[in-house]
Amino acid sequence: HFSPLSTLPPDALLGLMTAYRADERSEKFDLGVGVYKDEHGETPILSAVRKAEAKLLAAQTTKVYEGPRGNTDFCAHIEKFVFGADHPALKENRVLSFTAPGGCGALFLGVGLMRRMGTRRVWVSKPTWPNHPNVVKSLGLEVKDYAYARDGAFYKLGALADLSTAEPGDGIILQGPCHNPTGIDPSTDDWRALGRLCREKRVIALLDVAYHGFASGLDKDMDGVRAFIEEAGEALVSYSCSKNFGLYRERTGCFLAIGKDAEGIAAATTHVADMGRATWSMPPAHGAGIVAAVLDDPDLRAEWEAELAAMRTRMISLRTALSDALVSHTGSNLLAALKTQNGMFSQLPISAEDTAKAREADGIYMPSSGRINIAGLHASDIPRLAETLARYLV
Ligand code: PMP
Repeated sequence: HFSPLSTLPPDALLGLMTAYRADERSEKFDLGVGVYKDEHGETPILSAVRKAEAKLLAAQTTKVYEGPRGNTDFCAHIEKFVFGADHPALKENRVLSFTAPGGCGALFLGVGLMRRMGTRRVWVSKPTWPNHPNVVKSLGLEVKDYAYARDGAFYKLGALADLSTAEPGDGIILQGPCHNPTGIDPSTDDWRALGRLCREKRVIALLDVAYHGFASGLDKDMDGVRAFIEEAGEALVSYSCSKNFGLYRERTGCFLAIGKDAEGIAAATTHVADMGRATWSMPPAHGAGIVAAVLDDPDLRAEWEAELAAMRTRMISLRTALSDALVSHTGSNLLAALKTQNGMFSQLPISAEDTAKAREADGIYMPSSGRINIAGLHASDIPRLAETLARYLV
């Protein structure tokens, strides 16, 4: 009998997608999607990925398990991405890395490791990506939230005030570049302040990096994360290749940790391996193999970097155009903040009721939070979209 189970509410974002597809109006705007889209409204396979995949398949001789850490070549590349190629911790065995089934698999390992370290409460930004509290609760931990955004910018005072009430052993999830859903990122100095706070309060941080390369560039995007680690001295990291390599369904991610001493990291490694063993047993190989094949080959790597840069510049130019058009229609400088934000998402100052009105009256689809996916826009739609949206904003 399944009778003790009550039915969970449907996923709002999936409902929105269904409603968008069923909408027969010729003029409709899909701002709700969670994936990158190009100017044709498609999410294509990157050319460097396609070539690396062909190479990989041609060279592959077996499907036997790779081992608990998955693709170790992939892991070594992601370590360099996150910490920097010359970070002393890499040589001092103060780093661990595991291939994981997507960023979410890595998040699960991170929160699971917190739990094994005795964490009972995990702080998440308000607002945050709903799967953060979801993972925390599914592991039986309590969710606490900290203030994050005010007037379109990082609300440092509010965040630090809320986090000043954290207790030793609490966990915190901080998002790397391109915060989902606000697009608002702390400055490098803000990251330092957060790192100091975590060290002083003995709070364990999980840095969730899901949009590396979508803000300013591969190296620059890690400035904040690296500054945090310098101050905090230790951190857990979940890294997703879903967006920057376009590998969504291949479930390609990496879980990493950096610590103060090799002994702590060696112990943590056994726990991460144990959690992986108890859930997926062995990580998936395909996506990680593709990423390693791209990054190992200088030509493919250059091609990928160019494709990543094209995604980034497209989003930046759409942001600028939308922001300028909204400012000119509303006369409100608040919407100029859109230009200072990063990545695929921003959150519009719109009420939940007005998101429903915009959907019904104008065919503008976005979740009730007002989160929009910049990459879902077409440059040619922006003037009309901005004119319509402006009626609902501020
Ligand atoms: N963290 C954040 C903030 C995200 O937005 C995403 C992707 N939507 C992820 C992690 C990880 O996604 P995936 O498991 O598909 O790699």
